Amino acid sequence: MADDKQALLDRVKNDIIEKNICPDLAAQAKNLVMGDGNINAEIVFIGEAPGKNEDEQGLPFVGAAGKFLNEMLAEAGMQRSDVYITNIVKYRPPNNRDPEPDEKKAFWPYLLKQLQIIQPKVVITLGRHSMEYFLPDMKISQIHGQAKRIQFGDDKLVIVPLYHPAAALYNGSLRQTLIDDFMNVPKIIELMKKETK
Ligand code: URA
Repeated sequence: MADDKQALLDRVKNDIIEKNICPDLAAQAKNLVMGDGNINAEIVFIGEAPGKNEDEQGLPFVGAAGKFLNEMLAEAGMQRSDVYITNIVKYRPPNNRDPEPDEKKAFWPYLLKQLQIIQPKVVITLGRHSMEYFLPDMKISQIHGQAKRIQFGDDKLVIVPLYHPAAALYNGSLRQTLIDDFMNVPKIIELMKKETK
């Protein structure tokens, strides 16, 4: 099954390349950053877009925000190899600018395909860019840390929106809020498991 999943994920990557999604971003990027971690994970984290380090290494969250994410994972009793990490936009926007709405829209179907293949119990969005498509019209300041059930066609998903580690890194109160929300994630997973038994 894991091999099948990997083959399906490879197909998603090839589709992005063949269909030349976001050609302007692709032309400036060194790597297409698809994701990292365990393709059988119960939790998928979704960030915004690769930055400089991620573009160079072809892996998500390997810079300062990634270090903070790794620390929070460890504190919550998890490792990167227990979870899967990706971004909504899969090429680095020039100078780390925010992704444009049309870029997020272009990559959205591929993100959904990744989720359909991995089938996580919980999807954790990091920051508003990855939250907005799952939970439109909601404000991260009002719903961070809360589990939200949503339905997409036949697919049911549990979304937990968290603040982005890069935004929280140097902001004392946001940082503590993110850490508190993060430490609650294992409880949410256990609850979801009980409810789906
Ligand atoms: N920030 C993101 O949103 N994603 C990364 O991969 C790195 C930093």
